[in-house]
Amino acid sequence: MDEEDKKMDQFVNSIKEQNKDFENAKDDAINEGRYRDADSIENQIKRIHDMKVIDALSKYCVIPKYGFPVDVVDLKLYVNGVIDNRYDLNRDLRIAISEYAPDSEVIVNKKKYTSKYITLPKVGELEKRYFCCCPTCKKINLTIDKKIANYCECGEDLSGERIESFIEPSLGFKTGITKESTRMKPKRSYSGEISYIGKGIKDDEEILIPNRLIIESFSNDHLLVLNKSNFYTCPVCGYSEKSTNNLTLTKSAKHKNYRQYDCSCDELNLTRIGHVFQTDVVKLEIPSLEINDKNGFAKALSFMYALLEGISIAMNIEREDIDGVVKWNYEFESYDILLFDNVPGGAGHVKRLMGKQKIIKSLQIALNKVSKSCCDEDTSCYNCLRNYYNQTYHSLLKRKYAIEVLNNLLNDLN
Ligand SMILES: [Zn+2]
Ligand SMILES: [Zn+2]
Ligand SMILES: [Zn+2]
Repeated sequence: MDEEDKKMDQFVNSIKEQNKDFENAKDDAINEGRYRDADSIENQIKRIHDMKVIDALSKYCVIPKYGFPVDVVDLKLYVNGVIDNRYDLNRDLRIAISEYAPDSEVIVNKKKYTSKYITLPKVGELEKRYFCCCPTCKKINLTIDKKIANYCECGEDLSGERIESFIEPSLGFKTGITKESTRMKPKRSYSGEISYIGKGIKDDEEILIPNRLIIESFSNDHLLVLNKSNFYTCPVCGYSEKSTNNLTLTKSAKHKNYRQYDCSCDELNLTRIGHVFQTDVVKLEIPSLEINDKNGFAKALSFMYALLEGISIAMNIEREDIDGVVKWNYEFESYDILLFDNVPGGAGHVKRLMGKQKIIKSLQIALNKVSKSCCDEDTSCYNCLRNYYNQTYHSLLKRKYAIEVLNNLLNDLN
């Protein structure tokens, strides 16, 4: 600890920075007469100060997450308002925000339970963030207060865009009353795509072919996963309803708390639920994947999913343990490919890619995989690019795009 320690420094600095940002936001809110916002921000400051040191060290990956798991939450089972302690249900928050989200159902020992409450802290508030998704580049612009920057990094004017908020349900969930039904298949809600937030520490190693390819790796990079649905949540007891289309900021609803007594509050607030996590990231900047090419996004995606298959085979990594996102590169006006470890805390998987020979091997295996005649070149199938997790993009994934990008990069690297 006496010597220089990047992770420790980053940990200390980011906590200090967060605290400062909140203090500034609180001052702004007070100066502008937004006293309720100021109270809410004050609660966030308290939350930071009350955080347990071990939890914080693990969250920031200063100590290994597998030894000190912090982002693991429970779904507590309540039957008629009384806790049933027989079962121990827990999940990493990344999964819990969809599987345990309010109105999702779980089956335990052949019995169905419905999650209904977000567990709130006895004092203070859960971590809350505001964000605005840029309609042009899809970047999630995150802030701690309701005020969002006027312009996105891509130049888009954000002043007219809707500002949303999410809370991080880090204390878990509780079940409510489960309605009897003959439908056995549990209802669940879904998490959306993962968004890249940034703030990682860049490692020294890089692979560079000027104007063609830059590969860099990062530790403790931040990614965000959000449940796709909106929820109405009671600020007093955590009672929550998945919202239907009607997105007013508040909704009146008489309800019972988790002990099944009438709650004193009948105004629910609109929110989303999400989780910011830290992991290892490898970034590929490929200037030829131009934003201005109308097929650029489809090319970037097709290439990324081919590469993930290639890496998984080349390095013997479970395909589910790695994933990727496509993001705008504002400097080159191209698409960056960000690959990350899909396991809590990062397992060092994607970083093993940092070596020219390993990249070449992964690209070659990827090219092999997409060069088989499993389907028409103009499309893709479950043998080449498609899988359960990239369903949203199936129509964009084309073998010929992957082949084109892979061939170009292999030429550049040889
Ligand atoms: Zn943008
Ligand atoms: Zn309530
Ligand atoms: Zn195919």
